[in-house]
Amino acid sequence: MTAKEIRQAFLDFFAAKGHTIVPSAPIVVKNDPTLMFTNAGMNQFKDIFLGEAPAKYPRVADTQRCLRVSGKHNDLEEVGIDTYHHTMFEMLGNWSFGDYFKKEAIDWSWELLTEVYKLPKDRLYVTYFEGDAKEGLEKDTETLNLWKQYVAEDHILPGNKKDNFWEMGETGPCGPCSEIHFDSRPDNERAEVSGATLVNADHDQVIEIWNNVFMQFNRVKDGSLHPLPAKHVDTGMGFERLVRVLQGKTSNYDTDVFQEMIQFIAQKSGKTYNSKALPPGEGLGGASSDWNDAVAMRVMADHIRAISFAIADGQLPASNKAGYVIRRILRRAVRYSYQTLGFKEPFFNQLVPLLAEQFKGVFDELYTQKDFVQKVIREEEISFLRTLQRGIDLFETEIEILKKNTDFLASPENTEDWSEKTKDGIEKYYTTIDGNFAFELYDTFGFPIDLTELMARERGFKVNMEVFNKALQEQKTRSRAATAIDTGDWTVLQDDDSVEFTGYDETESVAHIIKYRKVSAKGKEQYQLVLDKTPFYAESGGQVGDTGELVFPNGEVIHVTDTKKENGLIVHFTDKLPSNPADALTAIVDAARRNNIEGNHSATHLLHAAMKQVLGTHVNQKGSLVNGEYLRFDFSHFSKVTDEEIAQIEAIVNQKVRENIPLKEERSVLYAEAISSGVTALFGEKYGEYVRVITFDDDFSKELCGGTHVKATGQIGYFKIVAESAVAAGVRRIEAITGVAAQEFINQQNQLVHTLKELLKNPKDIAKSVETLLEENNRLKKEIEKSVLEKSAGMKTELAAKAEQINGINFIAQRVALPNADAVKNLAYQVKDLVDNLFMVLATEIDGKPGLTVMVSDNLVKEKGLNAGNIVRELAKEIQGGGGGQPFFATAGGKDASGLDKALEKARGFVA
Ligand code: ATP
Ligand code: MG
Repeated sequence: MTAKEIRQAFLDFFAAKGHTIVPSAPIVVKNDPTLMFTNAGMNQFKDIFLGEAPAKYPRVADTQRCLRVSGKHNDLEEVGIDTYHHTMFEMLGNWSFGDYFKKEAIDWSWELLTEVYKLPKDRLYVTYFEGDAKEGLEKDTETLNLWKQYVAEDHILPGNKKDNFWEMGETGPCGPCSEIHFDSRPDNERAEVSGATLVNADHDQVIEIWNNVFMQFNRVKDGSLHPLPAKHVDTGMGFERLVRVLQGKTSNYDTDVFQEMIQFIAQKSGKTYNSKALPPGEGLGGASSDWNDAVAMRVMADHIRAISFAIADGQLPASNKAGYVIRRILRRAVRYSYQTLGFKEPFFNQLVPLLAEQFKGVFDELYTQKDFVQKVIREEEISFLRTLQRGIDLFETEIEILKKNTDFLASPENTEDWSEKTKDGIEKYYTTIDGNFAFELYDTFGFPIDLTELMARERGFKVNMEVFNKALQEQKTRSRAATAIDTGDWTVLQDDDSVEFTGYDETESVAHIIKYRKVSAKGKEQYQLVLDKTPFYAESGGQVGDTGELVFPNGEVIHVTDTKKENGLIVHFTDKLPSNPADALTAIVDAARRNNIEGNHSATHLLHAAMKQVLGTHVNQKGSLVNGEYLRFDFSHFSKVTDEEIAQIEAIVNQKVRENIPLKEERSVLYAEAISSGVTALFGEKYGEYVRVITFDDDFSKELCGGTHVKATGQIGYFKIVAESAVAAGVRRIEAITGVAAQEFINQQNQLVHTLKELLKNPKDIAKSVETLLEENNRLKKEIEKSVLEKSAGMKTELAAKAEQINGINFIAQRVALPNADAVKNLAYQVKDLVDNLFMVLATEIDGKPGLTVMVSDNLVKEKGLNAGNIVRELAKEIQGGGGGQPFFATAGGKDASGLDKALEKARGFVA
């Protein structure tokens, strides 16, 4: 079976068992502070498990793109080294939301694996949860008994909390699970060592393929477990691993999921991919180049998937948070590409078209944006390649320095050293590389530590890991402290926690608090309140959260400082709690602010449509911010938007404003219908089956949007673009204002023109008048320069006449009055041309600051050893200053003008 057929067989199997097939959620997670990237198929159903949202269907199945590179599930360091952990992988899953439970889940997983896929039963092992006394959890005998119907008892194994109790993160839904493992070792090995002893033992031929989780609990902040409102099934099967066992391979990379990519990389690098290359043995020997090449090809073939899908789903590489995680993965891949496979020019980005083609029809998000994704990766690659070579050079230099000292260091007396016995029993000594240096390479140049260790080892050195780990730990602590949020548990006031959003229709609603909790971050304490009914819009889709007030019957007013979404909840942020939280309250949105926000949001839709007209249909939204002050719109476009284009865009938007187009708001349109009617949907946004469509003129702007909008475009008032800039490779940003802000902006500009006019004495044509002014200014400058030159020409003869003959030297020490340092320098050079055997010191005061200039004839520098630089430094002491220059000409500045005469006097001492 091909990978494609295997995927389809899974979906067909569960569809036939009454499951609705749903699309994958984006890999980038929004609205969940506990998670950066989707790490399991269940993430998109978290609210349903927690009882915070109703299930649309009792049974669903899908293939979900997952990323395990941060947080609780992080496999990054394994990827490429082993053959079955990926950064991005597809998780095939089936779910029951309070519908079927353990029996059906187990029956069906067995049926699918052994009857549809026809996997040999004697190679399969299953596990169940053995219980955990500390958590008060019992052994899962129900699962054990269900498996006994199908599986021989020596293939059913108990598992501990680590392997058989699945948790999404530090908090959240969890429950006991049952894993299915596959043993793909050859028969003779299987006869010798039972597969049962290798399950969950990191053996690369006895691997977990499927996990069936029985969701029953919610882990809360204090660590305790609470039963969920209903019992659910959540399963996840690694697609790439399944393909590997079905295609009879010993590595995921040998399947048709990866082979095309691997062969492309191999061919372009002029090397061959050796799937069976072995890692360097422990101890000495260095890495084999075969192995290094194979790891590099696997890393590249894997990482391109993670990076491409993250970018396609809206997460660009950046210098912090999720963007930084992506940048790091990209750098890891490029490092291998450059150093191991020898691609000195940007190559990694060239994998994008192949990948896009491969996922066409599965995850089309990539195919439709492939040019953009490739461009972003290419730009990152170019800038990283520059730093990378610097890192490698640094490493080599460090090694050179250490080598020079090796004879001294690599001796048994030196306790800093590290030694090991070779197989032949010879003691070999290694010199340690400073752990802080290794950390710098890791942190600044993206060198994974295992690589630095490997490079070190190849040259007979060892990294001081203790120091490295300490530096790493310190950095982690620093970044954790910067983002640490301490979230308390909810205090629940009402058990029915369904939430109604009324903000599309009103800005004031009567409501009750359902639950609240305390959160502290960076030393600041706040409260989060959830209401049963609320007009407050929670930040999302770029539109900021509403602010306003909660008014209580006793007259108490609680200010809402922000509103955010968390999973399915609308969370109101306040600085304090009401005295009677259970009372009915009136929730009132700051309506003036909301009006401004709505003007900016609707203007953003008009802008988006106008840009597609002016710049082209490749323009896609890559991020937006809409608040009460302005709007910011990031979009894919490859060149600067010109002034003419900006003028055209503004003109279209303002035309639409004047047309006063009424808002058409459809709250519940079938997603498929909306898309086929041509609405603009955003990449990386997760849409449900029913969507809200915002239309301003059927032929102009139609977008899927959850935000709030003006009733008619006339309310926007006036639209003005105030800035255009670049944010990242292939992404540009427009900032604009509307309504009152636009009016104020125009007023300010007008005021400026008015002030200018007054300053210029009300000319008819301001621009012309400024031009004349500039011309006149230039002319005057030139005249001044000329007159200064004339003045210094007169001075030079005066000065020459004042020369005193001392010991065959023409000595001049004088004060001169000139307006700038250039003129003084000029004068000094002219006198030098005029007077032989010259030793001259000039004292000046320019803008109140004392200065000294020393000029010495070239022959005197040689013959008498007079050095202007040294002399000026000596003289400058008299004016509390310093300076320097060349042996024949030097200058100094100082603070004390009263010392100038003394300095001139002192000068005589050098020749007398
Ligand atoms: P392992 O112990 O092998 O890391 P896991 O216990 O982390 O697996 P689960 O969290 O139970 O795995 O995920 C469900 C399934 O997803 C696994 O059975 C496996 O087939 C697959 N899977 C998990 N992590 C990865 C990964 N990094 N790459 C590819 N497939 C994975
Ligand atoms: Mg794992």
